[in-house]
Amino acid sequence: MDRGLGVDVPFRACDQLDLAASEGGIALEAERLKPPGLRVEGLGHRFGRRQVVEGLSLTIACGEVHCLVGPSGCGKTTCLRLIAGLEPLQQGRIHIQGRLVAEPGFGLPPERRSVGLMFQDFALFPHLTVAENVAFGLRRRSRREREQRVRELLRRVDLEGYEDRYPYMLSGGEQQRVALARALAPAPDLMLLDEAFSALDTSLRAQIREQTLAILREAGTAILMVTHDAEEAIRSADVIHAMLEGRIVQSGTPAELYARPANLFVAGFFGPVNRFPGRVHNARVDTPIGSVAADGLAEGTPVVVAVRPEGVRIRRASDGCGVRARVIVRRDLGPIHVLRLALAQGSEVKVREAGPVELAPGEEVEVRLDPAHVFVFPA
Ligand code: ATP
Repeated sequence: MDRGLGVDVPFRACDQLDLAASEGGIALEAERLKPPGLRVEGLGHRFGRRQVVEGLSLTIACGEVHCLVGPSGCGKTTCLRLIAGLEPLQQGRIHIQGRLVAEPGFGLPPERRSVGLMFQDFALFPHLTVAENVAFGLRRRSRREREQRVRELLRRVDLEGYEDRYPYMLSGGEQQRVALARALAPAPDLMLLDEAFSALDTSLRAQIREQTLAILREAGTAILMVTHDAEEAIRSADVIHAMLEGRIVQSGTPAELYARPANLFVAGFFGPVNRFPGRVHNARVDTPIGSVAADGLAEGTPVVVAVRPEGVRIRRASDGCGVRARVIVRRDLGPIHVLRLALAQGSEVKVREAGPVELAPGEEVEVRLDPAHVFVFPA
């Protein structure tokens, strides 16, 4: 029996279970063979003589969320603009759902790439109603189809009954949800989010972000988002790409980047770090809190030792054997305590303690390093 795969498979009634299993396998195989939502290869871009994006490659499966993070000016927005088709492509190739949309000398216009865009400013058309804003990308559909799709989308973003309002009659969160409905209306294969939630206040931001990503994931849309907010990236991303000076310097899950950051920027992205400059001597580096291993770095290399606040362990001073420090400031954030300590040789360190802390400013403590939260980077 030909089951549509060009393979003859003999069928026996008693093989129901095997068939079910093989159908599951076929479905999985079909899923695996589906082209990724976005594939970018060797993207490069210059403004004048300045190379602002270089050799950037990434692949996002349908329904996956990837975050681009990096310091201001490292080229994140330029990447999104190239992928959306708002800048002509100079180097590399961009495929969306397996379809080549841009290479040097060729580029589909933005409206033919099946890409949705959401920016920090919601960019709603002020003279159009909510329904007209959402229907904007559906001009080619019949009136009946348009009205049906707008109704369906407004229901999904909890804005039923808002059809006839104008943007000035909406709160920030409502405007953002209209922007989401508008971006979703043509059912894009890829959604690009550039700081899309950062204008919203903290509690609303988390709620709207989760709602947005859930809707997009469910629709199987690939998502590439730019954010400065570490918590947002950690909570949302399947994969984080850390960018520096136009290049991706590290890609991985949030847990991988937290545990093994490739550089000081990535280590610092997840929260403040204590930094101690030093030099490699006998495969180790001395810091004011003790010596740390510097495997793989040549003798004499100048380095920065980065220590997360949770990597400094403290206990009340006892026999005077450990490295001495004095508590300067203590702040209690619910179950978390943040302390600033002065070390005997003059520098200060930040400490984060999750357990109960009985120490008060002025008290003497002993400190040591937890190697799991200590990283050594060439300076
Ligand atoms: P931010 O996080 O501050 O938004 P970014 O990482 O998104 O920054 P881009 O907006 O991509 O950075 O800009 C990368 C570099 O390219 C910056 O130095 C910027 O000044 C420059 N740049 C961006 N657009 C243009 C342009 N149209 N003409 C010239 N230079 C530009």
